[in-house]
Amino acid sequence: MRSIEELTDVVRARGGKVTSQRLLIWRALEGDRTHPTAEALLERVKPLLPSLSPATLYSVLNELVEWGDLRRFDAGDGSIHFDPDTSDHAELICLRCHRVWDVRASAAARDVPEEIAGFRVLNHAEQYYGYCADCRRAAGETAVSA
Ligand SMILES: [Zn+2]
Repeated sequence: MRSIEELTDVVRARGGKVTSQRLLIWRALEGDRTHPTAEALLERVKPLLPSLSPATLYSVLNELVEWGDLRRFDAGDGSIHFDPDTSDHAELICLRCHRVWDVRASAAARDVPEEIAGFRVLNHAEQYYGYCADCRRAAGETAVSA
């Protein structure tokens, strides 16, 4: 995610207003490494902005996703998760405990095939789904290697 100052410029360049909702949501996301859900973000921002509706929150989040400033992904727990870290990385997601770890991305995502040359990649998502070592041990899987 770009800085608050840069996002402010983006909104103004588009003729929009930097509302208190936008600012509070951007600040809530800034530097967040916990892959929060919209519900968790709403809980976080509500004390500061009791009038914030889920619809407004979603629209601000979707706007950031469209600008390439926020990633969204499914963690298999019925909620969409968001990640303001748009640097090149992938997520490892446990389908049982739904914990998420950031890992190094594969190089493949950067190579756009020739037949779609000219496609401008703003952002990409790379998620790996499976079971973490804790959940595998809890399920009685023996010989869980690192
Ligand atoms: Zn797990």
